[in-house]
Amino acid sequence: MTNGRLLEHGAGTLHTVQNLIGGRYIPGHEGTIEDVEPATGRALAVIPRSNQPDVEEAVEAAKLAFPAWSATPVEERARMLERIAGLVEARAEELAEMEARDTGKPIRLARTVDIPRAVRNLRFFAGAVRHDETGFHAMDDAINYTLRKPVGVVGLITPWNLPLYLLTWKVAPALATGNTIVAKPSELTPLTADALGRLAQEAGLPDGVLNIVHGYGPEAGQPLVEHPDVKAISFTGGTVTGRHVAATAAPMFKKTSLELGGKNPTLVFSDADLDAALAGTVRAGFTNQGQVCLCGSRVLVEEGLYDEFVDLLVKRVRAMRVGDPLDPRTELGALISPAHREKVEGYLKAARDDGGEVLCGGERPELGDAHKDGAFLTPAVVTGLDQDARCIQEEIFGPVVTVQPFKDEAEAVRLANGVRYGLAASVWTRDLQRAHRVSAALDTGMVWVNTWLHRDLRVPFGGMKDSGVGREGGRWSLEFFSEARNVCVKLD
Ligand code: NAD
Repeated sequence: MTNGRLLEHGAGTLHTVQNLIGGRYIPGHEGTIEDVEPATGRALAVIPRSNQPDVEEAVEAAKLAFPAWSATPVEERARMLERIAGLVEARAEELAEMEARDTGKPIRLARTVDIPRAVRNLRFFAGAVRHDETGFHAMDDAINYTLRKPVGVVGLITPWNLPLYLLTWKVAPALATGNTIVAKPSELTPLTADALGRLAQEAGLPDGVLNIVHGYGPEAGQPLVEHPDVKAISFTGGTVTGRHVAATAAPMFKKTSLELGGKNPTLVFSDADLDAALAGTVRAGFTNQGQVCLCGSRVLVEEGLYDEFVDLLVKRVRAMRVGDPLDPRTELGALISPAHREKVEGYLKAARDDGGEVLCGGERPELGDAHKDGAFLTPAVVTGLDQDARCIQEEIFGPVVTVQPFKDEAEAVRLANGVRYGLAASVWTRDLQRAHRVSAALDTGMVWVNTWLHRDLRVPFGGMKDSGVGREGGRWSLEFFSEARNVCVKLD
């Protein structure tokens, strides 16, 4: 199959996605769902509307494959990840186009971030598992050593904003540590997950090691979380869904990793390199149309710089190019759906009702006939809101940033921490002491200083407060996808 194109789609034809279970492609038990292209409003593919029996079959297949895969030497598992990475890389252009069409994101972003990062994820965990070290603790009369055992069948549930990037971020460490997988990608963006399954098969991954079940969250995701033979759930998505996943998994003492929403501050001090801070603020605010959990959607600017900064920010944001995701010059593509665009527009209305001013953006642009049904929205900058306004407190997940002034460092930290989320922050200053002080005072899992989304895959990734529980990345992922077993040997 993978000799052909990964996306069979032309005039009058819809790409058909099926579940991958035990190495076979099979339809779901309960009909299909249309996968719609956000930039045109047209159907791209149909996917299975899976439910409990489909999940049951996938878990059985994963259980069957587990003994052999978990006994496969680490070196062989690492080489398998590298083979998959090579095939993803060889198909990078095709996958980038597929991701841009399925999500509405600019192809430039898919080419430079999504697909290369998927390749890096696979290669990184091939290396990480080879170089993994576990503990050794000597006592006077005994020694302890720690073994790393795979957890078993694991469930991976992923969102629509970075489909292949986030799926490989979980698949790679789960496979490296010897688990077998049932993955449930977002029903809004199923295509690159399907392609990954095909490329993994082409690489020779044994049947049943990676199973993919498509469908709606409550129908296909929920039975996966509920299944007693699924020993761990790695979930990335919204906070409300994450709370539900946690409540379902907790009574079974299931391992869970929850990567949830964000409402991340960008703190700009008046001593910052102005040009770099502006570029960083725009990138943090509007990458992927503001639909990245790490997006800096709250900009906090020191009073002395505030007016000048807002003027320059609005100029830059107005100049951003919104358009066809497949045009390489496009900076902002379509939002994931018309329903999501309405939600974002609702927040802009709430901002006005709360006394805020929308300085630019928030309009549906005219992009011609081909895109008249696309979910496009121009990027918006909002000022004049109090800390308790909905647009300051709630995750909008769209091309909207709010800007607030602050008097001093203490107030900057108070405003930054004054939300229920705690995922990431970026701090822009030339004062080294201040950079360290503020970074230590922020209640977020990650802080970037004079940069944003600069990623080393070895470091802990995750959030505090309502942004989630647990960390992924480097040894944190290897630990999540394994059980540590200590062996204590008494010495004579
Ligand atoms: P979502 O919570 O609606 O869906 C995420 C996944 O969960 C989808 O596959 C969905 O089908 C599934 N799901 C829904 N209900 C379920 C249930 N009852 N049981 C099991 N699975 C269920 O999130 P979304 O709208 O797809 O993604 C956007 C959200 O994801 C934003 O809040 C964003 O901040 C967050 N996100 C977080 C990170 C992070 O690393 N912290 C990264 C990307 C996105």
